[in-house]
Amino acid sequence: MIADNMLGLVKNSSVIRAMFEEGNRLAKIHGAENVYDFSLGNPNVPAPAEVGTAIQEILDEEKSTYVHGYMSNAGYEDVRKTIAQSINQKFDTTFDATNIVMTVGAAGGLNVILKTLLNPGDEVITFAPFFGEYRGYTANYQGILVVVAPNTVDFQPNLTEFALKITKKTKAVIVNNPNNPTGVVYSKETVKKMAAILEEKQKEFGTDIYIVSDEPYRELVYDGVDVPYLTKYYKNTIVGYSYSKSLSLPGERIGYLVIPDEAADSEDIKAGASVATRILGFVNAPSLMQRVVAKCVDAKCDVEAYNRNRELLYNGLIDLGFECVKPQGAFYLFVKSPTEDEKVFCDIAKKYNVLIVPGSAFGCTGYVRIVYCVSYDTIKNSLPKFAEIAKELGVTK
Ligand code: PLP
Repeated sequence: MIADNMLGLVKNSSVIRAMFEEGNRLAKIHGAENVYDFSLGNPNVPAPAEVGTAIQEILDEEKSTYVHGYMSNAGYEDVRKTIAQSINQKFDTTFDATNIVMTVGAAGGLNVILKTLLNPGDEVITFAPFFGEYRGYTANYQGILVVVAPNTVDFQPNLTEFALKITKKTKAVIVNNPNNPTGVVYSKETVKKMAAILEEKQKEFGTDIYIVSDEPYRELVYDGVDVPYLTKYYKNTIVGYSYSKSLSLPGERIGYLVIPDEAADSEDIKAGASVATRILGFVNAPSLMQRVVAKCVDAKCDVEAYNRNRELLYNGLIDLGFECVKPQGAFYLFVKSPTEDEKVFCDIAKKYNVLIVPGSAFGCTGYVRIVYCVSYDTIKNSLPKFAEIAKELGVTK
């Protein structure tokens, strides 16, 4: 018999993953070209050519060395140094190798930092809508996830409610910018206000409250929008970065944490993050991929392809009468459901082989998430299906 807790987790397992499996099942029945799977944020844009070249070069160059060996739990020192220098160049910061811990993607990084920071019963605040896996990651360390209700006007965080939800038990605030599932980018003004609230609350309670900035979509932004680098606005910030989306490498599981020296107890956090990497069973981030990303610090995937998809899907749905805040980043649209219960919308869409994810998976009912990291043709061919769905739901312009 598996653990009681795990029985519950299996039962409530990720809706998104279930949709993805459903998409595969439908594709076998109807043919992949007749299924419009908008469920999983799996990048369709290929990894930049530099990635393949780097793999080849590393395998050739390092034949006689331990490219596949263990290294310190935080990762190869030269790789961490290269990454720190690249961050410094881009954001005018002053990090070095000691501030970087290589991780098994953003998911690994979030688990490492929450394991490092949380005592049982500590509270972790996040803003709805949010990446649903935060629930599991927080519960892994007996933390309590406290959710700030969504601001559905523009999906910037609701800072008035945020201030009210901070308590003596608040240990961390997970901020995801650009945001999954809305694609909204939190502005500099928002970040400054958030930092001011946190400074005040730290003083009031005599505690340290850490922002954990979850940034897998940092490079996927449109219209030249700026994504503030949070360590510059709030000293107790730990950044979690991933190459899953920026270099289209989600299956390779590679990312890093940035732990600034200015953060309270930073030496303990660095040491804790190394130990957490080891005892969570990661031991270290994938060795070959560490070397690859160090060679590809300036590589970029084809963001313009996502931008074309964004314009096509957003304009197509707006023309049909759907409502949605135009995303400035990531590769998701968060569309208002024409039915009060968005699961009805998802079920009707499924009749047309269109797979979309209910907002309840992100703590925001009444909305659905539609990914646009799919081929342009998939979006183009899905629009007549969305037209039929709109008709069935009585949506008009
Ligand atoms: N955080 C957010 C907001 C995400 O959307 C995802 C993946 O979709 C992750 C973390 C996990 O990413 P990774 O593949 O780097 O573990």
